[in-house]
Amino acid sequence: MTRALPTPPPRIARLPRNRSGYPVPWFVAWIDGTPDFRVIGTGKLDDAVRFRLCWLCGGHLGANAAFVIGPMCAVNRVSPEPPSHRDCATYAVRACPFLTTPGMRRRDSHLPEGTTDPDGIMICRNPGVALVWVSRTWRMQPHLRLFDVGDPTETLWYAESRPAARDEALAGIDSGMPLLRAEAEKDPRPRAALVELELQYERALTLLPDAGAR
Ligand SMILES: [Zn+2]
Repeated sequence: MTRALPTPPPRIARLPRNRSGYPVPWFVAWIDGTPDFRVIGTGKLDDAVRFRLCWLCGGHLGANAAFVIGPMCAVNRVSPEPPSHRDCATYAVRACPFLTTPGMRRRDSHLPEGTTDPDGIMICRNPGVALVWVSRTWRMQPHLRLFDVGDPTETLWYAESRPAARDEALAGIDSGMPLLRAEAEKDPRPRAALVELELQYERALTLLPDAGAR
């Protein structure tokens, strides 16, 4: 699929491009000279955390960290990927077809040998909604390559490469709740986990875009 990309911020414009003209994010693995967007390059995650580097452009992060996450992550406040600059993250959420085009499936076939899924719940589906979660606080969970994200200073919701309407963002959250409830039911203390999840759900609803915003 070819379509016009949004104008990249200078940090992204400096990145190499693949054959289709997409900028290749810093974290992407290069295999035999070709970038494979599904694979994280060796050592990139550790370097991003240790040196506070932007996941998308590789530059140094400032005080603000922007996570590109799905709506379910806005509920449980966990990101599978480290943060980026705000302008890099908002570019990615508008340019990445997987994140923002409903109906596109991840191509999981022909992954190179030795590829492993990220830790935690891997949700291989496209909710059609993504958001940029900007926060001054975050941390990597010990022993798990997952990131706890702190209270947001800003949440920017997108659907199909444009700002999402409130009902679209809400539908994105609601479509993932059965999966989160199923996980909570596997908890050693399922009742407490379900109560906690409902509180997290209510908290996420306060972050939805305003009604009528688009
Ligand atoms: Zn960046």
